[in-house]
Amino acid sequence: MIDYGSVVYGSARPSYLKRLDYVHHQALRLCLGAFRASPIPSLYAEAFEPSLSSRRDKLSLSYYFRILSNDNHPLRGTLLNGNNNRLFNARPSCIPHFGLRMRNIFPDTFHDVKIHTNDFCDHPPWMENSISYINPFGNFTKSDSNNSVLISLFNQHRQFFQSYQPVFTDGSKSLNHVGCAFFTNGHIVSYNLHSFTSVFSSEITAVYFALKYIDVHDIRKSTLYTDSMSLLESLRSSSTRNPLIKEVKDFYRHLLSKGARILFSWVPSHVGITGNELADKSAKSATEFLTRPIVYADVQSAVNQWCHCQWQEKWNMETNNKLHVIKPVLSHWVTKLNRRCDVVLTRLRIGHTRLTHKYLLFAESPPTCSHCGDILTVKHILTDCVAVNRRRLRYFHSSSFDLSFLLGQIPHFNLFMYLKDIGVFHDILVFLSFELISFKFLVLVSL
Ligand SMILES: [Zn+2]
Repeated sequence: MIDYGSVVYGSARPSYLKRLDYVHHQALRLCLGAFRASPIPSLYAEAFEPSLSSRRDKLSLSYYFRILSNDNHPLRGTLLNGNNNRLFNARPSCIPHFGLRMRNIFPDTFHDVKIHTNDFCDHPPWMENSISYINPFGNFTKSDSNNSVLISLFNQHRQFFQSYQPVFTDGSKSLNHVGCAFFTNGHIVSYNLHSFTSVFSSEITAVYFALKYIDVHDIRKSTLYTDSMSLLESLRSSSTRNPLIKEVKDFYRHLLSKGARILFSWVPSHVGITGNELADKSAKSATEFLTRPIVYADVQSAVNQWCHCQWQEKWNMETNNKLHVIKPVLSHWVTKLNRRCDVVLTRLRIGHTRLTHKYLLFAESPPTCSHCGDILTVKHILTDCVAVNRRRLRYFHSSSFDLSFLLGQIPHFNLFMYLKDIGVFHDILVFLSFELISFKFLVLVSL
């Protein structure tokens, strides 16, 4: 409900938007069972839910690029028109329009992005719009079969289709490089692609340029080999809306109309089929940069990744946060515990429990350990208190470890038994009376 319309209401002033944050934080506290005094960044990290402002940025940026991907969208012209920008920049008190707001948010890497526009004009159903493929390996799979078996099957297939010129295509994506390549008849053509391009798009791009090569060199009979089964399945599907797939299908139909005969075939990767190995190697080392529009799906995943990196960078600064020590990298941690244990685990990870932090709400002095008299903290209970060292040894078979050992992604098997034995489990778990009231209120409202 909060997401709905956030692209529009996201332009409101920060003081208004802050009102929603209270709702969001309270919802996170109730879902996690976190203690009231828990730091907000810890709530986000433990629940793996970004802040509302980060979420609004993500949704708005996705919408911005979605508009740009549609040639007929009525807002497209407004977004691309920069005539009013100077006016808005000269008056910071005025809320800028959507396009300018977005351009102020996203980093330089997004400024030069050219997005692929689609006309949403599908082919009518009576026109055959799918491309079938062959699989020379039948039921032999890469995991179950020896490489030499697969190679001899491929050679047998080649003998059968020897009148068809083989064209091997491949795409690759690593951390810093995206490339595509094809190899045929001693020629290798390879391109370096924009870093936002997905591996799937790089595979399609390789096929597209291979078809162009077939057209230019007027090859009458050819077989295109790819190791991407998902690409072949997309070509076979008649309902795909990916503009790159449509581009390949259209060009394929154009070649058929000119009398060319083209087969598509799957080959397993990294089994020693020479053409496939060469295409793979060339795609990985391609240097010639190719400027092509990027499909919306790839830009959207780049937006998601950028938003996640922003959040991670903020989290990296939280060096004094107790949860940061246990969970430095933001990710989704799934626990299959019952609600009581889950709440205790969350509170211990965040480092704020009823037992150790109740004093903040009641303006009391900090509690002390009933075993040794030191100030009571989660770290003291779990790793530092010397008075319970023997019990720690019994449950964890060690008395010297850090908190991640007990509270990491997979919590220690004996953690809850230990807490019950030293008599703190219940004191960590219990909800304060007003938390229970707000929880019951929420349940009543939802009923
Ligand atoms: Zn102690």
